[in-house]
Amino acid sequence: MFKAIIARCKQGHRTMAYPREPLALPERFRGYPEIKADLCPKDCRACADACPVDALECQPDLSLDLGKCLFCPECSRACPQGAITHTPDARLAANHREELVVRPGDEHRLAQALEKKMLSLFGRSLKFRSVVAGGCNACEADTNVLSTIGWDLGRFGIQFVASPRHADGLWVTGPVTEHMREALLLTYEAIPAPKLVVACGACAISGGPFRGSPEAHDGVEGMLPVDLYIPGCPPHPVTILDGLLRLLDRMP
Ligand code: SF4
Ligand code: SF4
Repeated sequence: MFKAIIARCKQGHRTMAYPREPLALPERFRGYPEIKADLCPKDCRACADACPVDALECQPDLSLDLGKCLFCPECSRACPQGAITHTPDARLAANHREELVVRPGDEHRLAQALEKKMLSLFGRSLKFRSVVAGGCNACEADTNVLSTIGWDLGRFGIQFVASPRHADGLWVTGPVTEHMREALLLTYEAIPAPKLVVACGACAISGGPFRGSPEAHDGVEGMLPVDLYIPGCPPHPVTILDGLLRLLDRMP
C-alpha cells in the first residue's frame, strides 16, 4: 500500500490543462475547412466528383457540409488550384444542422450555450446515456477517451451513465440502423424531460459512409431533436469536448 502511494505521488498530475491551455494537435490533423472559391476554374467539379459522400456542392456556390464530411481529404487532393484546405482548427460543433454548411467568406459559427433555464439545470452536472446506433465504433472510442485520466471529462461534471433513467441526455453515434432504431427511440423516451440530444460523428448526423444504405436511416436528423452536432469521422476528442463545453458555457 505504501509503495502504491509513493508510485502514485511520483506519477504526478496527468490530466491535460485543456481548455485552460491550448492543445497541441498532430501536424496531419484536419479541421475546419478553408474554401477559396475565387480560385475555382469555371465549371470545375473536381472536388465534388472526388468526394465519397457528396459533401460538396458546386452550385450556386462551392460549399462543404461538415455534417457529411469524413475529413478524408480527397477534395483537396483533387483540386488543381488548392481551393479547399483543412485548417488545424478543431472547433467544429454546432447547434443547428444548417450551421454545418461552410461557404466561402462565412464566419466560423461555433456552438452556442444552452438557454438560461437549461444551463441552470445541466451547467454543472450533465449525464448522458450513449446509444451506439450502428457505425464502426471509432466514434465511441474517441468518446470513451474523454473519460480517461488524460482528459478527465468528470472534472466538468459530465459523465456517461448506464441507465437512461439517470441521464439528462442521449448521446448518439452511428447512422441509426433499422435494427437499432426502436432501441434508440425507447432510450430517448426513457430519459426524463427536459433532455438533450447529441449527434456525435458523421454517421449520427447524416449517415456518414453508410449514407443511402437501405439498412440505415442516414442519422438522427428528423428522428430526434438534436441540441449539438459534432462533425468528424470520428470527431477528435478535443472537438467533442469543445462542443460540450461551449454548450454548457464553460469555455474560458
Ligand atoms: S474531406 Fe470531406 S468534403 Fe473533402 S472529399 Fe473527403 S469527405 Fe468529401
Ligand atoms: S462517423 Fe465515421 S468513425 Fe464514427 S461511427 Fe461513422 S464511420 Fe465510424
